[in-house]
Amino acid sequence: MTGNYERFIEKIAKSAGIEKLDVEKRVEEKKSKLSGFISKEGAAQIVASELGISFENEKLKINELLPGMRRINIVGKVINLFPVRTFTTKKGEESKVVNFWVADDSSNIKAVLWDTNHIALIEKGEIKEGVSVEISNATLRDGELHLGNFSEIKVSQDVLEEVITEKIFREKSIAEFNKGENASVRAFIVQIFEPRFFYVCPECSKKVIKEGEAFVCGTHEKVVPEKRAVINLVLDDGTNSIRTVLFHEVIKELGLGDLEDAEKLLLEKQKLLGKEMIFSGNVRNNAFFNTPELIVESVKETDLDKVISELEK
Ligand SMILES: [Zn+2]
Repeated sequence: MTGNYERFIEKIAKSAGIEKLDVEKRVEEKKSKLSGFISKEGAAQIVASELGISFENEKLKINELLPGMRRINIVGKVINLFPVRTFTTKKGEESKVVNFWVADDSSNIKAVLWDTNHIALIEKGEIKEGVSVEISNATLRDGELHLGNFSEIKVSQDVLEEVITEKIFREKSIAEFNKGENASVRAFIVQIFEPRFFYVCPECSKKVIKEGEAFVCGTHEKVVPEKRAVINLVLDDGTNSIRTVLFHEVIKELGLGDLEDAEKLLLEKQKLLGKEMIFSGNVRNNAFFNTPELIVESVKETDLDKVISELEK
């Protein structure tokens, strides 16, 4: 959320009527005073409140939100609503949760609703895809907008015409990755594992089970399966390392051609090791290792022009 931080600093400067550089200096001072126990985003929020600036009664744009922010107010359009899920709490009570993506003209973000009164608005169909909503008193946690019992959500009459619906991958360092978010990172490939293969149903793309000579899909019974590949990499960007998962098309973007030609693969792997590339995807928890991993959705070459202009600075 590097860009978000920049925008937040600009907003503080504008509201306080001081220079942006002055705000940045105050943030640095606050950070060193707290012996680095706080992120620059956290320090910026303290500086804002010390300057008497509160955004509590103000609607923010989604691209202005910062980690740890509370009492967030936004207006956005529901662009992707997931089914309501029921779960049992540790106390044995039945509870509900629902996720949707909410978008404005600056960005989009996943919203998580925990309050049954809020969820009822979705169950009744008052809040659905395409509807604009006004959210108040929400909290930003792990890159998601959380609405608890003290938050509010209602249908907004604001007409939001052009909202950002494409997936936003926020540029981050690996150390800053949060579970559940879409992130983009420039990192070095430090390890490449052997590809593994599996078979899927050509109709529904679900994994099929081998029964004797036949392949069986849970829905489509006996099928002629399609072979798919998966490959794991370890990336390192200097702040941390992370295990990644790449499937079929993305493996091609990485530059690996024929995975079943062992000799060719070995050469291609040698070329890739130590290479820096841009990886975008979703951060998930690997249930087996209980560590975060990046499910890569796209791989890009580092933009040479950008690298050069940064070196010239
Ligand atoms: Zn199937």
